[in-house]
Amino acid sequence: MSHKRNLAQEELRDRAREEIRKGRLPNSTPASIWAGLGSGLPCAVCGHAIAATQVEYEVGDPSSTGSFRFHLPCHTEWQVECGVIPCDDSTPTLPGG
Ligand SMILES: [Zn+2]
Repeated sequence: MSHKRNLAQEELRDRAREEIRKGRLPNSTPASIWAGLGSGLPCAVCGHAIAATQVEYEVGDPSSTGSFRFHLPCHTEWQVECGVIPCDDSTPTLPGG
């Protein structure tokens, strides 16, 4: 089997994990999420601007009045790191480590 994984996806997940570890992103999903078109502001995971032609996910920061913005794939990888979406690997990361 030579199933080739999407490198960009792994990189995004690594970045999301790193941001959570540094405390820049929450490790749980806030209740409020908005989806819309990009506002040109940087993505919280990859740091690139979200163009008006791209889907932007905006998530309220539970610890402040601010919010985080994500590209759709970046948001997905962050959700995986939060444990909301099951990882596509066969070994899910368990909390407490
Ligand atoms: Zn992004």
